[in-house]
Amino acid sequence: MASQKLFPVTGVGSWSRPPWLVQALRRWQDGEITKDEFDGIADEAVLLCIKYQEDAGVDIVTDGEQRRDNFYSFVVSKVSGMKLMPVSELMDYMTNRARFEEVLRALDVPAFAIKSPIVVDKIKSRNGLTMDEVDFLMAHTDRQVKMPLPGPYLLLKSSYFKGLSDKAYASEDELAEEIVKLLRDEVIALRDKGVDFIQLDEPTLSQVVLGEESTETFMCAAMATRKDPSEELELAVRLVNQVVDGIDGVRLGVHVCRGNWSRREDVLLTGNYGPMLPYLMEMNVDQLVLEYATPRAGEMEVFKEYAQQKEIGLGVVNPRTDEVESPQQIVAQVKQALQYFKPEQIFLNPDCGFGTFAERNMNTPNLAFRKLQAVHEAAEELRKEFG
Ligand SMILES: [Zn+2]
Repeated sequence: MASQKLFPVTGVGSWSRPPWLVQALRRWQDGEITKDEFDGIADEAVLLCIKYQEDAGVDIVTDGEQRRDNFYSFVVSKVSGMKLMPVSELMDYMTNRARFEEVLRALDVPAFAIKSPIVVDKIKSRNGLTMDEVDFLMAHTDRQVKMPLPGPYLLLKSSYFKGLSDKAYASEDELAEEIVKLLRDEVIALRDKGVDFIQLDEPTLSQVVLGEESTETFMCAAMATRKDPSEELELAVRLVNQVVDGIDGVRLGVHVCRGNWSRREDVLLTGNYGPMLPYLMEMNVDQLVLEYATPRAGEMEVFKEYAQQKEIGLGVVNPRTDEVESPQQIVAQVKQALQYFKPEQIFLNPDCGFGTFAERNMNTPNLAFRKLQAVHEAAEELRKEFG
């Protein structure tokens, strides 16, 4: 791993997509333009997003997931045997459609805009999941780079759908094996390319723990069949550890948030990381990338018994608000985290991406830029004090 200055600033993954990019994405998905034509347009969007991050003082940059429909559905275009299906279409296969529709409305979920990568045949990777993304990113920045990947639990739970997937895989367990292999190959390939930081996104874990028991999550419609939360968390730990087993030479992280699909804070989940931590700590990764700007994430005291055991990617700005956090505010928050982490264990990032789903930007590029700038200023102050 590259040596690191204190309090490195990084993103969680996605960046707001310009309207012309979303339009091109839909045209490509509808077969109106080729992948090459789409990539030509997406290249421009990635360059803009790199520029914003570099100008803001971000130390470890991402490509803003500009080529992705969302942070996990994009695998459909990289793997055969999967089909991109909008949540609205999946409803036809649900046992309790009326209830699900009610949930989506209450949660402010754009059911037609959010798509899941559903397994409909044996899956097979064509040429990795993010090789195009990483090559372009690394060719256009000298900074360290981070690559977010869908975590194995998320990918399994969002892609296995009874009535659609069971013809190819008799059980979820059978598919799990393939998904682990797919992600493990990807992590190794990214490490070999020189990527500095690989992040596995597992946002649905908060749904497992904090969601209403009867609530089907829209990202994992099949989760209605989930077992009790501890069994699900154990499964997530097992899968993550199988993916990363024995892999070194790259920083590995897991990101868990409480949802990032709406600016309405009242519809997003609330609750601290306490119930999840015993499991997250069992994951053989260097860093937990967590929300802490939103009060919904609860208190940091939950780290008391796990102090200094892992790095934290500390969420210090809320990607969904118009107000730009002040550097002073961020410094104060980091000082709180210093009760439980050493200075060299703290990375600074927003709570989540700025555009998790293609049609739901959480903020404008300008506000995202100003928020990252504030994080950078805070990092500089902290470096003076703790360097
Ligand atoms: Zn997130």
